[in-house]
Amino acid sequence: MNTENLNTWIEISEKAYAQNLNFFKNFIPKKTELSAVVKANAYGHGLKEIVKLADRYGAQSFCVHTIEEALHIREEGYEKDILIMGPVPHGLLPQAVESDFRLVLFDLDTLDQLGRISREKNKTVRVHLKLETGTYRQGIDQEELNTFLEKLKKTPLVVLEGAYTHFANIEDTTDHTYAFSQLERFETMIGQIRQEGFPDIKQHAACSAAALLFPKTHFDMVRLGISQYGLWPSPNTFVSFRTVHSEDEGRVLLPVLSWKARVGQVKNVPAYQSIGYGGTYQTTRNTRLAVLPIGYADGYSRGLGNLAYVLLGRRRAPVRGRVCMNMAMVDITDIPGVKIGDEAVLIGKQGEDIISVNQLATLSGTIHYEFVTRINWQIPRFITDFCL
Ligand SMILES: *Cc1c(COP(=O)(O)O)cnc(C)c1O
Repeated sequence: MNTENLNTWIEISEKAYAQNLNFFKNFIPKKTELSAVVKANAYGHGLKEIVKLADRYGAQSFCVHTIEEALHIREEGYEKDILIMGPVPHGLLPQAVESDFRLVLFDLDTLDQLGRISREKNKTVRVHLKLETGTYRQGIDQEELNTFLEKLKKTPLVVLEGAYTHFANIEDTTDHTYAFSQLERFETMIGQIRQEGFPDIKQHAACSAAALLFPKTHFDMVRLGISQYGLWPSPNTFVSFRTVHSEDEGRVLLPVLSWKARVGQVKNVPAYQSIGYGGTYQTTRNTRLAVLPIGYADGYSRGLGNLAYVLLGRRRAPVRGRVCMNMAMVDITDIPGVKIGDEAVLIGKQGEDIISVNQLATLSGTIHYEFVTRINWQIPRFITDFCL
């Protein structure tokens, strides 16, 4: 890793990732497929880097949102199964069949097209039915289920490999009544599918929070997103987990991502001057500022202006004024010796101090899921802390 000539970069800890995945390997049953959800540039961590680590540490398959993401994984040379969870534009269905991806199925028109394409190519295509259990986002209702099953019976090249659902309200609460009602509907529909002549389908429902909190949702596969990156789905998930697990077990997840930037400029500002666009901060004394070459275009939210801090010279340097498109100013008046090229930590550890994604997400009025996925894709990612 040579970052000497970089303004900003992301470090991905192999050690942390390995620990997170190992925890889940031991936590879920052997028969359950561990699928790494790597949509949205692997939650901003870098698709290429995370797929490499997921493959190395025992993820058995991948879940993505788009066919482009799936093709990218293939181009990197990985052969493991990939489930495309988002809609594939119909013009790209032939390519999806050709590439042998697993496809989500939630509408009849797509099923017809897949029937035709698979016949033309004389090639099977595997589909996973998405079942509507109360999230009302994507999925088929129980009343429609038989129509799908009848059609599937008539299109033998379209292979019903699995059926799944997704919980609506599992992270935002410690009351899991709604999740359990979804689970009940799910089980009923799965029963119906098995009875109608598809006894061997893979049944899956668990995202990170379900995988952590409810072993009975592990079924045949878990779709592990945020937690593989060492982030708890939510404080509520952590609290719920800790009510049944020890304090040590509560420390199982290690954050994988750090974000750094080099000081681009250092300057003195007299007292009573206002800083940046809109003059939202006024100095109260002779002040020394470091200008960092990152801003909201990089994913460092504009909302962090006058709120966040970075770690610089092992101290906290507060952001002064508004965050600009590609720059942000931090106060280093009381941090001696800061110079151009010094390393500032935006997310992660410096000395004994840590800035978590959660802190920045909260300060900018959102959640960690959004914060990490919005870190600009073009910022270079490096794998560090290699495991032997
Ligand atoms: C994103 C996603 C997941 C992963 O959720 P996490 O909370 O990040 O583990 C699982 N299933 C589906 C359908 C998803 O869209």
